[in-house]
Amino acid sequence: MIRYHYGAAAGYTRMVSDAFAAWELLWPEIGERHFVDTGAIAIAETDGDYAHRTLACFRATGVQHRVLNRAETEALCPQYKLRPASFGVLADPGGPLFADRIVRDLARLAEALGVTMMPHASVIAIDPRAATATLADGQVIAGDAMVVAAGAWCGALWPSFADLPVMRQALCYVEPAEAYADAWRGPALVAFGDNGGYTLPGVAGTQLKFGYGAHRRPGNPDEEGWQSPPGEDRQIMAGFGRFVHDIDAYTPLRVQVGYYTMDATREFRVETEGRTIAIGNCDGQMFKFGPLMGERVIASIEGEIGADDLKRWAAGRA
Ligand SMILES: Cc1cc2nc3c(=O)[nH]c(=O)nc-3n(C[C@H](O)[C@H](O)[C@H](O)COP(=O)(O)OP(=O)(O)OC[C@H]3O[C@@H](n4cnc5c(N)ncnc54)[C@H](O)[C@@H]3O)c2cc1C
Repeated sequence: MIRYHYGAAAGYTRMVSDAFAAWELLWPEIGERHFVDTGAIAIAETDGDYAHRTLACFRATGVQHRVLNRAETEALCPQYKLRPASFGVLADPGGPLFADRIVRDLARLAEALGVTMMPHASVIAIDPRAATATLADGQVIAGDAMVVAAGAWCGALWPSFADLPVMRQALCYVEPAEAYADAWRGPALVAFGDNGGYTLPGVAGTQLKFGYGAHRRPGNPDEEGWQSPPGEDRQIMAGFGRFVHDIDAYTPLRVQVGYYTMDATREFRVETEGRTIAIGNCDGQMFKFGPLMGERVIASIEGEIGADDLKRWAAGRA
């Protein structure tokens, strides 16, 4: 999901505008627009919750948005059990980025541009000062600069990331109740109160997707893999019964497991040493910022942005 809503985090809210601009540069390069602008909504439940914080932040940062009163929210999103004090904070563009299609087409683009792709090559050691990476088969790859973007495994290559907690998260694809099928093609839900549940509409050949913040837990991809134990789909969906009508009429289709690093700051960490830039603490948040982060990292390698500015910007404190 890409959306402007970031609660009170003004730095990341502003970064989303730049992130959209970076995606707009990418679509013509890969020849497809792997994004549907369904809009995104946060729904208020109680005073001071995520929607309230987002609204205050939108007003402070000048992000275009609409506040829907309770009746308007109900008309747009009849699938949710609204509270008496509910209202919606809607902003667009926002919605699903089709990550697998994007990564597939990026790989094709890279190859077409003459990049040497080495799928399944495992880096076992790096030398940040020399910008070299040693592969498991003993090959040493040397470059003018090196970027370490190793996701949940970043701590193995970059010692100061070793203390970042590795989290396992799982999302559930669902078949909605028939009565609400059309409503689920509407805006992505960023937050309902401070409940922790979010949804992505099933559009452009994808399925409705439910995620639940509280379902995240520490995990280890090398030990646990990507299997989902029986019943996990129902565990994820259970969190939605509190604010989705007729949840028993929804059918879980499959669960997708993933891993990322995430500490309590929830700020991206960018560190530099010698000719190397390492990116960590990407949380469940970095996909939307991928092309933008790429732009800034390249600008830093080319000397247009200083290391401290890059670090501060990535932490959302520019
Ligand atoms: C369930 C889930 C939902 C998410 N939802 C969203 C969302 O809605 N919006 C959003 O913006 N972001 C979302 N994210 C977050 C986003 O996917 C990550 O932040 C992003 O993928 C981080 O990119 P990365 O390239 O740094 O790491 P990754 O995508 O994890 O890629 C790292 C790659 O490095 C490889 N690697 C690691 N170590 C080595 C090594 N030693 N040698 C060779 N290769 C290595 C790995 O195999 C992997 O392919 C979500 C993540 C998950 C798990």
